[in-house]
Amino acid sequence: MHAPRFRVLAALAVLLVMVMRVEAQATYDVLLRGGHVIDPRNGIDAVMDVAVAGGKIAAVRAGIDPGTAKQVVDVGGLYVTPGLIDLHVHVFATTGVRGAWAGDSSVLPDGFSFRTGVTTMVDAGSSGWRNFEDFRRTVIDRASTRVLAMLNIAGFGMLTDVPEQNIHDMDAKATADMAGRHRDVVVGIKSAHYQGPEWVSVDRAVEAGRTAGVPVMVDFGYFREERPYYKLVGEHLRPGDISTHMFRGPVPYVDADGKVLDYLTQARARGVLFDVGHGGGSFVFRTMVPATRAGFYPDTISTDLHTGSMNAGMTDMLMTMSKFLVVGMPLQKVVQASTDTPARVIKRLELGHLSVGAEADIAVLRVLDGRFGYADGARGTLAGDRRLACEMTLRAGRVVWDWNARSGTDYRELPPTYGVRDVDRIIVPPRP
Ligand SMILES: [Zn+2]
Repeated sequence: MHAPRFRVLAALAVLLVMVMRVEAQATYDVLLRGGHVIDPRNGIDAVMDVAVAGGKIAAVRAGIDPGTAKQVVDVGGLYVTPGLIDLHVHVFATTGVRGAWAGDSSVLPDGFSFRTGVTTMVDAGSSGWRNFEDFRRTVIDRASTRVLAMLNIAGFGMLTDVPEQNIHDMDAKATADMAGRHRDVVVGIKSAHYQGPEWVSVDRAVEAGRTAGVPVMVDFGYFREERPYYKLVGEHLRPGDISTHMFRGPVPYVDADGKVLDYLTQARARGVLFDVGHGGGSFVFRTMVPATRAGFYPDTISTDLHTGSMNAGMTDMLMTMSKFLVVGMPLQKVVQASTDTPARVIKRLELGHLSVGAEADIAVLRVLDGRFGYADGARGTLAGDRRLACEMTLRAGRVVWDWNARSGTDYRELPPTYGVRDVDRIIVPPRP
């Protein structure tokens, strides 16, 4: 009479044993143990373990058996987030042109990415359709950092300041065609630094973006009476397009009562995105602080990394994120604006999260408590009580930055001749 029920129970027991065996046999390459995981895409904000195998995220949950991993790294007291995505950098450093954004003012990606938790960088229009393939060959395809790009609407990109003023070389079709040929890395179109009174740089970029099916990012250049900023975000940009340098000096933010101006909330409501793009001089606390306190957070936090900004107030991605943290943006939202949201903005849904099966791009961050000073891009300073620091970075499962040597082995536990290759001999000089 009880036989069928018994059989079901027996089958369940067998199944349970099989599941447990699979667990015991699974070998993870790396287990990050006991960190506070912030993974906005999956709604995770809790202490959990993260296991990596074969370069992918293999498990995210509490209590993963450390015996199942080749390497166990204690990250207790630290935050574990998806690898950061910096939506606005300049890394076309290989042109040899002095003083150009696409030249000596750019940096090579790997020297600046992993040490700040960044695993993906988006070059914001340093190249245009005429020189993008050089950029790809000499930088993108050689970097360990995942480098994506927005094509400048100007054919020669930022090779000097001149091409971006040449409206005769803003070819929407050629730009869209080039984007189409390199869909694996081109994620947007850029208009930047335009000085003239016309909308042509913006509008051609939007035209190219529409044809190529990618978003447009606009650095508004000179703020002129003929083309006011409110019309950029209110009329010219499409939903999904990005206004970068959102806290540049001339952008108006709040009224006398500290209320965010209607044109901004209306632009956001219709889907226009606001990106930080801190840069050397494109960020002032004068507007950033009241806007952030009023809850008008950036959609995406980015650096506008170049040799000028990295040695100034901007410094790096974590310094830029820290500014929002100390002004009152919650850490979970700061992380979201640096991982999940930028991935969505560039339509790369496979990036910016720690879902099982995703490429294991991971940042392990520390929130330092203390007294810190912050500088904007125009001599303004601000005191803060916290600062983010990067303890570890993994790119596709490989440890690429390890500030406190968590992933190694105590040297006393290594074999007596570690560090000597097969081809080398230790030769002690004879006594005299
Ligand atoms: Zn820029």
